[in-house]
Amino acid sequence: MVKQKILCVGGAGFIGSHMSHKLANSDNYSVAQADIWSAKLKIRFENKPFAFHHIDISSDDDELSALVADHDIIFNLASKASPRLYVQDPLAVAKLNLFDGSKVIDACVKHRKKLVHFSTSEVYGKALGSTEPFSEDLSNCVTGPIRNHRWIYSTTKQLLDRMIFAHGRQSGLKFTIVRPFNVVGPLIDHVMVGPDDGAPRVFSYFMSALMNGEPLRLVDGGKALRTFIHVDDLVNALIAILDNPAKSNGEIFNIGTPQNEIRIADLATLMRDIFAANFEMSSVRSDIVTVDGQEFYGEGFEDTERRMPNIDKIKGLGWTPRIMLKDLLEDTMRYTWENRHRLTQEAMDAME
Ligand code: UDP
Repeated sequence: MVKQKILCVGGAGFIGSHMSHKLANSDNYSVAQADIWSAKLKIRFENKPFAFHHIDISSDDDELSALVADHDIIFNLASKASPRLYVQDPLAVAKLNLFDGSKVIDACVKHRKKLVHFSTSEVYGKALGSTEPFSEDLSNCVTGPIRNHRWIYSTTKQLLDRMIFAHGRQSGLKFTIVRPFNVVGPLIDHVMVGPDDGAPRVFSYFMSALMNGEPLRLVDGGKALRTFIHVDDLVNALIAILDNPAKSNGEIFNIGTPQNEIRIADLATLMRDIFAANFEMSSVRSDIVTVDGQEFYGEGFEDTERRMPNIDKIKGLGWTPRIMLKDLLEDTMRYTWENRHRLTQEAMDAME
């Protein structure tokens, strides 16, 4: 059987490296990577089992077009996803997500290739007091005022989703859009050397603080609710999408684990307990403190109160999430703890 050739644009990061690992020995698919750096792939793979193409999609238009022409399915994973970046460097977030992302869409249209586009649960914006889970085809996508830069990621990603849909109608583009809900697993973000080092997501803030003996900081009291999905479950959902092209074409899929909903304040306590039981090297026990959101992230921050996915659609492809919250945290914390010296700031700097 001829393998389908997958190209992962922005595939050398957290999710792309896991996907490559999973598909490395697949009978049905081969995977190539196109990215500006390969450090996470190097951590993951001693011997690279796939092709790596060093390209910058912001400038290497001809190379991107040629690579897309040479593959069957294009994943676009290139993204800057972290609330601190949305607030502190909104132009870079918009440029990569919207303008550079459009180039990937255009190349797929030109060469008539299937696009699997990584959207985000941020697209749903604020929960606005609603307790209903977010639905791909029914929920409104409502964000905040323009001066709150927090929403630039949400709105640029939303516009891209709308352009992909428009190309589906007007250009015959074959596509699937996926919306991950707070993915966690080995290799997520970087290990921080200090409390203001870089712009990771909540897992890495808390894990780094535990390892460094610093306080875990709850933004505005840690009232917000999130569901967390293990990256292995996410990758299995992507494979279900690949294996079901007829059912997945032209569709958006939420990918998350509703059972893993937790308040951020409770996440801090749970991670501190797991750390103390498994990894603590001394009697130092991190405090848990509250910080103001605007001070922690910067002016223009606003939070999403609750982000709960409806996953009925993706379950219709025969997939269901399997890894529950405690196992998810223990696995990711163990990997981070055991590899803390490799996951250094220096290695991560090379990846940015
Ligand atoms: N958060 C927190 N302390 C931190 C980092 C994040 O309380 O050190 C909160 C953040 O305000 C949000 C939630 O944790 O309510 C999840 O943040 P994350 O950065 O993972 O991204 P989001 O889910 O908001 O996109």
